[in-house]
Amino acid sequence: MVIEQNTVVLCHYTLREGTASGQLIESTEGGEPLGYIHGIGTMIPLFEQNLEGKSSGDSFEFGIPAAEAYGEYDDESVAEIPKAAFNLGDMNPDDVFVEGEVLPLQDENGNMMQGIIAQVNPTTVTIDFNHPMAGVDLYFIGQIADVRHATPEELAHQHVHGVGGHHH
Ligand SMILES: [Zn+2]
Repeated sequence: MVIEQNTVVLCHYTLREGTASGQLIESTEGGEPLGYIHGIGTMIPLFEQNLEGKSSGDSFEFGIPAAEAYGEYDDESVAEIPKAAFNLGDMNPDDVFVEGEVLPLQDENGNMMQGIIAQVNPTTVTIDFNHPMAGVDLYFIGQIADVRHATPEELAHQHVHGVGGHHH
């Protein structure tokens, strides 16, 4: 069976930054494979395109430029926000405003967004709303472990059940 629309793909991969010898970002080796349903838009489009038509046992190796992955790093997505603008409730500001911590935030329309605290200043915090992988060129090396049809239940849930997916 080949990878096509609505197949469940299980694969092992190692993701590095930029090239085959770049810094290791993550790897499934030694653990559960990645499982996803092909063609429903849950993966980076170019990742799916590179796996399209492959079958169990096939290997793959390809790069995806940052702009086609998690986007270029955008300086305008960094904002300095007054500490007073945060509703901290009973929380101690020194516990909340810590460099490198992720802040769950809500905009005026109620949309949840995440920002990383880039810098803590006396009366403000500088928050970086870029995706943590923004500006990073990706390089994948891996192998297809299994390809099968997605079940109607998996298609309804939009995720894989069992190995490489949800256990519920
Ligand atoms: Zn489910």
